[in-house]
Order: sequence, then structure tokens, then C-alpha cells
Amino acid sequence: MLLTVLPACAQQEIRFGVLGLFHPKELILQPEGSQVLSVSEKDTAKNSVLVLNDETGHRQIVFRAEGDRVVAGSRSASSWAAAARDGGAAAFRLTVPGKLHRVYCGRFKIQARKGVLLAVVTMDRETAVASIVAAEMAESAPLEALKAQAVVARSFLTAGSRHLDFDFCDTTHCQFLKSPPAATSRVTSAVQATHGLVIAYRGKPLAAMYASRCGGQTHTLREVGLHDVGLNSGEAYPYYSVRCQWCERHPISWQSRIRTSATPPKPGDERSRIAAARQWGWGAIPGSDFTATADSTGWRLEGHSVGHGVGMCQMGAAGMAAAGAGFREILSHYYPNIELITQP
Ligand SMILES: [Zn+2]
Ligand SMILES: [Zn+2]
Repeated sequence: MLLTVLPACAQQEIRFGVLGLFHPKELILQPEGSQVLSVSEKDTAKNSVLVLNDETGHRQIVFRAEGDRVVAGSRSASSWAAAARDGGAAAFRLTVPGKLHRVYCGRFKIQARKGVLLAVVTMDRETAVASIVAAEMAESAPLEALKAQAVVARSFLTAGSRHLDFDFCDTTHCQFLKSPPAATSRVTSAVQATHGLVIAYRGKPLAAMYASRCGGQTHTLREVGLHDVGLNSGEAYPYYSVRCQWCERHPISWQSRIRTSATPPKPGDERSRIAAARQWGWGAIPGSDFTATADSTGWRLEGHSVGHGVGMCQMGAAGMAAAGAGFREILSHYYPNIELITQP
């Protein structure tokens, strides 16, 4: 498996907190393919090193959380680290037993907090951008839409970190991040073709928001009740409400039911929607534009968008690209008054 988007030169490195959504108590680390992983415990006076590869016969290591310690076999440490033999990036696989596995390309560190493992992968920015685009858009999407998504994902990563123990998480709180695409993937081409390009507002990279399907018109932050949330670093970008022809021409509707005697989530209020999704799941309330009608068991919701509708509409971007628009045109449509700048 060919994994990496090889960096042309030294790049910004980004730390991702991964798989935290699963609150894992156990994680399995394995080198991917023919890679060799050098694993060390961090708090002994003399770091002892385990090597994982075919030759040593050790193919994996199982980490378990015990309070704030991480146990592997008979050894316990406050943290463990893994990397290629030279200390650089390696391809490895992390498995949440019984749930899923993901492949990463980078350096690995693991700690524990109150019985839950905290896995952090440090990777170069372009590998991260590719891993996000691969998670956020279908590989079959038009190339210009993939390029627009790459610029948006990179802008978000460049605008500044959003967590304390690492820079970004791998959920919708920040951006989805899965395994990096193959070198031959169209996603890889889109990332390479836009290398270093980010969206900037008043000269500063923008933590650009985007969403799945806007329903025909994107929203300002005020329209979804997020105008007083500090989402952007630097100058706050005034997200505009722009028309989205693709969504206009391809209307959707979804229906769901929430069985509750409590008041329903407020339409057009992202915080109310997030709170409701925590309780009933995202499937109960996939988009911010909906109407709620009371019935005998609770509320019937009918919606016309997926996501918060702020910034680039991913379906609309794909529609614009299919109609011949380039990624620059797509970006300036959904983010009026921005500029594109290059970040090395
Ligand atoms: Zn996050
Ligand atoms: Zn749209």
C-alpha cells in the first residue's frame, strides 16, 4: 500500500488527537506493511526500545489504560512513543478492538487520563490535508471540488490549534480525519495541485467552516446562532449567505422523530442542534434547517439541509465543479472577500 504524500520540503507538523470518540481503554499498534516501528516508554531513566517488524517476530503491541498509566505487557509508563527507526514518520495501524482500525503516517504518542487512552499522531500538514479530504469527500467527486476541499481543510489546520493536549481532534468538532489516501488517489492529486494554498481574510489564514448540503442558501454565523462563538483565529470572517444553485435544483428533505416530552431543538440554532444530537444522535437532526411538529409521542422533524450550512457547501462545490468551475471560483463563491495565500 502506497501511503504518503511525500513532502517536497520540511513542513509544518500537526498533532492530532485520534480515536478519542471511542474513549478507548485498549489500543493495538502495528507497523503497516513492511514498515519498522521503534516503540519506547518515556519515563524510565533509560528508554528501552521495542522494535516491531517481521524480523523480530513482534508484530503488534497492545496498550491498556490503568488510571493515568499506560501498560503494555508487563511494562507500565506514563507515556509511550513510536516512530520510524530514525525518529521520523512511519506508517502504522491503530486498532480499537471490536470497533475499527485506521492507518496513519506520522509519529505516535500515547498517554492515559483516568483510565482512557489518549493517542496523538504527529504528521506533516499535507499528509493531514490528504487524510481529511479523503474522509470528507468521495474520491469520485470532481477534481476541482476536491481541490477546493483541500484548500479549505488546509486553511482550517493553518489557522491555529483548537485543543490543549494536541492541535486538532479527528471528529466534526475539528475535521474528520481518517487514513491517508493512496499516492495514486485523485485526492492526492488535488492536495498536491493546491500545495500550501490557504484561504485568508485580512491577511490571516481562516479556520474555514464548511458543511454537507446547504439546502439552497448558505448561512451567516448569526443565522445559525454562532455569531458570538470565537470560531476563527485572528480577524473574524463575516460568513455570507450565498445562493447555492446545486442545492436549489436538487432539494432534499429528511424526516425524523424524537420521542420526548421536552421542548424540541430550535430550528436554525446550531448550539441547540448540537445539544440535541448529543442526546438523540446526529441522525435525529442532521441539518439546521427544519420544522418541528408535535405528535402523540414527541416531535416530528422535517429538514432541508445537512450540516450547519455555514461556509462552503460540499455538495454545491461538487455541483459547481461538475458544471466547469475551478476551485478558485468555488472558493470565492462560498467565501466572498477572501484571498488565497501560500503557506510554506
Ligand atoms: Zn476538535
Ligand atoms: Zn448547497
